[in-house]
Amino acid sequence: MKIRIHDFLNLLARWRGEHARVQDQATSANLSRLRAVAPLVAALNAVHVLIFALQLVRAPVDSNRYRWAVGLLITHLTMGLTMLAVAGLVRHLQRTHQTRWSQALTIGVALTTLVFSVAVASIDQWVTPAITPFLITCMAGGVILYLAPRVAAGMYLAAYMLFYVAMGITQHDPEQLLSNRLNGVTACLLGLLLSVLLWRKFTTITLQQSELEKVNAELYARHRELEQLTRQDGLTGLFNRTTFADLSRRELDRGQRQGSATSILLLDLDHFKRINDTWGHPAGDAVLRHIATVISTAVRSSDLVGRLGGEEFTVLLPNTSVQAARDLAEKLRQRIADAPLPWQDITTITITASIGVGATTAQEKRDFDSLYSLADKALYKAKQLGRNRVA
Ligand code: GH3
Ligand code: MG
Ligand code: MG
Repeated sequence: MKIRIHDFLNLLARWRGEHARVQDQATSANLSRLRAVAPLVAALNAVHVLIFALQLVRAPVDSNRYRWAVGLLITHLTMGLTMLAVAGLVRHLQRTHQTRWSQALTIGVALTTLVFSVAVASIDQWVTPAITPFLITCMAGGVILYLAPRVAAGMYLAAYMLFYVAMGITQHDPEQLLSNRLNGVTACLLGLLLSVLLWRKFTTITLQQSELEKVNAELYARHRELEQLTRQDGLTGLFNRTTFADLSRRELDRGQRQGSATSILLLDLDHFKRINDTWGHPAGDAVLRHIATVISTAVRSSDLVGRLGGEEFTVLLPNTSVQAARDLAEKLRQRIADAPLPWQDITTITITASIGVGATTAQEKRDFDSLYSLADKALYKAKQLGRNRVA
């Protein structure tokens, strides 16, 4: 038994935690429902006001029927006006997103409706022993609004206490009074049960939905990461060979359509094998990253920079003549030679590069492979001529 109470308390604590996580969604769902339901209830109240106004005309003054009609007319009129005000308030709160006030309004409306049904049921006692309005409202309250079980329990308890007292005022038959008070307990318990069931369902579905959204967002981020990885060279973050070639083909086409020249630089580090052999592969990798940064910061953002593999880099220069490409290649060569890489406080690694330039004009209509081959030959020549130079 002890364990069961402990389990039950644990369950309540878990529910409280879950409710805190879905509170905002529950509040906004409640506002939407109130927005739809409040005008409907107001319309129903208006119909009742009309009916009881007619009853009033027909009933003899001072009769029970007259008292009953007056009582219900006033109650329905009050409720109808309240619901119209609620509809207006809901619109305002939906616009201004005031969560605290929205929660207060939801509880306020649920309580007011229950009080209203107690008033109607007790006024009804002047002509009928039925408590149908109270019964219906208890059920409807449980189904229409999402309320935390604690709040719902407090509300139904308050409503029942009021019902208990109010019945005592208008129902004087002891058996009927007892029967109504017992039925009132059933109505409140059923209403509470419905409310708790609905609330649990809402909480579970909402939490599942937000979990799904989270997983979806993670999947999307992963997808983007993978996509990025397939486009990039893992070591330097530059475009890899395939992506560079694809993008370059597109740029070349565009240049030819627009009648502008396009150039390409092919850059190969000199004696890179020696760097690896002397300082180790991690030093070689650091040099490759360093060179990637030097190249990227030296060129325009519209230029494409790629690593073709090993210690070979390439830059596609849209809208650039052969002379401008040569000037840029020379600038790059110098920057690389002037920026030795400090390595682990032991040394600085001096790096030089040979660069081959290839260029084409719109009239030539040279394709990417042919342009690349031009630059490759030039690079070979630069190596032949003694390295650390542009050809
Ligand atoms: P050259 O001046 O004629 O270009 O001589 P080189 O030593 O630069 O050229 P070679 O092609 O003989 O050597 C290139 C070296 O680059 C050999 C290879 O181990 C190394 N390498 C290729 N990819 C990587 C890499 O990702 N990281 C490191 N650290 N080294 C690499
Ligand atoms: Mg090489
Ligand atoms: Mg090399």
